[in-house]
Amino acid sequence: MNVLTNYPPTDELQALDSAHHMHPFSHNASLAEQRPRVITSAQGVWLKDSEGQEIIDGMAGLWCVNVGYGRAELAEAAARQMRELPFYNTFFKTTHVPAIMLAKKLAELAPGDLNTVFFANGGSDANDTNIRMVRTYWAEKGQPDRNVIISRWNAYHGSTMGGGSLGGMKGMHAQGGLPIPGIAFIDQPDWWSEGGDMSPEDFGLERARQLEEKIKEIGADKVAAFIAEPVQGAGGVIIPPETYWPEISRICKKYDILLIADEVICGFGRTGNWFGSQTMGIEPDIMTVAKGLSSGYIPIGGSIVSDRVANVLRDTEFNHGYTYSGHPVACAVALENLRLLEEDGIIDNVRNVTGPYLRKKWEALADHPLVGEAKIIGMMGSIALTPDKASRAAFAAEEGTIGFICRDRCFANNVIMRSVGDRMIISPPLVMTCDEIDILIERATKSLDEAYEKVKADGLMVSA
Ligand code: PMP
Repeated sequence: MNVLTNYPPTDELQALDSAHHMHPFSHNASLAEQRPRVITSAQGVWLKDSEGQEIIDGMAGLWCVNVGYGRAELAEAAARQMRELPFYNTFFKTTHVPAIMLAKKLAELAPGDLNTVFFANGGSDANDTNIRMVRTYWAEKGQPDRNVIISRWNAYHGSTMGGGSLGGMKGMHAQGGLPIPGIAFIDQPDWWSEGGDMSPEDFGLERARQLEEKIKEIGADKVAAFIAEPVQGAGGVIIPPETYWPEISRICKKYDILLIADEVICGFGRTGNWFGSQTMGIEPDIMTVAKGLSSGYIPIGGSIVSDRVANVLRDTEFNHGYTYSGHPVACAVALENLRLLEEDGIIDNVRNVTGPYLRKKWEALADHPLVGEAKIIGMMGSIALTPDKASRAAFAAEEGTIGFICRDRCFANNVIMRSVGDRMIISPPLVMTCDEIDILIERATKSLDEAYEKVKADGLMVSA
């Protein structure tokens, strides 16, 4: 019997899951009570669960299945590579074709002089690499004290000691001794929640200028780098005001601070261009990539590095690496995935057809009585739930209460949208068609309607 295709009934699976499987970012005891949904197969933008329910995936798995599910080409690329050369390392004077070809392809796709790749297994460990890389860069340049990395509150950069430290998630810092030393934080450019009476443009400038203040406070000769997502993802799809990134770029240049763009979500078409840096007009020194690089079919990540940084690192021995850095099977799958993104015109289609279509429908959700703002860029969007649009008020109930109510309605209506606090977010596969967008929006609207009824019935439509 093949245990993975010929599986026991759902309740048995759920019991086994709660007995033996500790889920990430979950309260496992309550999860066991609520019973996790068992996803068994998927095609295109549709998931199927063990009860035969069909669910439209508004999150592309975890922001990663950019080419959609069920692309046989990727399975074949993996099988071919496993037969040819399932593994070999790249540590000791050896290399292999998939790593070479993927690094070359990424150098072609990446903007500017980002021409060199250091491979990791995902986004978190790629950001760990970045910490060591920028500190080593400055040490090699004769400035070993230049080791502080500035990040932002409510950023997400992963779950390892390094990634979790770079991230600005206070709940994560509260567990396990984070952040590591040498990480500093500034506030995020979230105008809806934190902009007060300022215009979005003024607020964007104010938040960017916090970087300059922080650099002065620490001393420019102690700051190695600034790291940020072009558009914050896990923090709630926070699209910064237009004034933000130009000012950040100016400040990084002025103080010669390396700019790390964490493209783990924004990369590979999510914002309508290959990289979010292109959409936001950023010229990073390093880009973190993962997720959409392989469309999530296999774990792979990496740092794409500018000539400036690569040339310095080239002249030293960088004592860093993962067994699976440049894993041949992962590289082969990623290469095939990039071919699909390119040859099927998937990113062009997001930019010119499905992105604008989704934008119109998504922004119209701002008229819903539970919704304050609805913002979207490419295929990542968010709506802020509020008891009072005019004042952009938060709910009096504990943050996340209303988001959870809404997310549960989405779950019941077979649409995957995620809640972040009291925001609802989407990041669908980039192959979602206009007809499927209609279904997504219809189910999202139904879920919002039902959530609104419940929020009112529970007396929660109250401002903080
Ligand atoms: N950076 C960003 C911007 C992310 O969104 C994520 C994951 N959501 C990570 C890093 C961490 O990537 P991984 O989970 O692959 O380690």
